[in-house]
Amino acid sequence: MKPQEVLVDCQDAARTYGRALAAVVAVHGATCQVRAGDRIAITGPSGSGKSTLLHLMAALEQPTTGQVSWPGLVERPMAAQVGVVFQGPSLIPALDVAENTALPLVLAGVPDERARRRALDCLALVAADGLAGKLPEELSGGQAQRVAVARVLALRPRLILADEPTGQLDSATGRHIIDVLLAAADEIGAALVVTTHDPAVAQRLDQRWAMHEGRLHPPPEPHRRPAAAAPQGETS
Ligand code: ADP
Ligand code: MG
Repeated sequence: MKPQEVLVDCQDAARTYGRALAAVVAVHGATCQVRAGDRIAITGPSGSGKSTLLHLMAALEQPTTGQVSWPGLVERPMAAQVGVVFQGPSLIPALDVAENTALPLVLAGVPDERARRRALDCLALVAADGLAGKLPEELSGGQAQRVAVARVLALRPRLILADEPTGQLDSATGRHIIDVLLAAADEIGAALVVTTHDPAVAQRLDQRWAMHEGRLHPPPEPHRRPAAAAPQGETS
């Protein structure tokens, strides 16, 4: 079997905030890889460094020491290949749902009409096409999170990083959002990494990486998916 392509490679990557006596080591040297087709939960209590590790993988943070690289993401700009779903509300209040979903495409230079059609397709993938004309303030928390997922799908990323996507939802709605993320990742052939402190959410993913006080423990082992479940996407 062909080895699964490495999308993100963290080598002893650490992130410290502040300096000297005020320094907080949010992530101690983390060594881990995310591969095409992976479905990973990063678990751990609040403050254990989950978000910081996710932000390192998203290139939203630079490692203080060590390296993060994206060997499998060389074809398009990084921002188009890594989609991030944030924990809190992230929709733009003045734009309706279709406009919010189309925004990454419009910013990437896709003509308005094409961007809108693609946005409606993505909303349909998360069963939110009926919400297209609504404003964010009219949505429930679960609806808003589904739209945030649709917006991430618009650019067809190869990697979806979701930071506590169920953190502000009741458990039934949270389970539904995880199902939506898993189905969406399958649909576009993306790898999926979800941070969560909820064991029931973590159980839905194929791998669980545990964080404790900034350390990944035990160190994650590469995980082999069954060949039939691997994404079909060709590699460069
Ligand atoms: P988690 O997502 O598991 O709750 P975080 O990665 O958010 O953990 O935080 C890990 C540690 O780093 C915590 O002690 C937190 O207070 C600290 N931290 C996170 N972000 C910052 C920041 N921007 N400035 C200072 N400290 C931070
Ligand atoms: Mg967090």
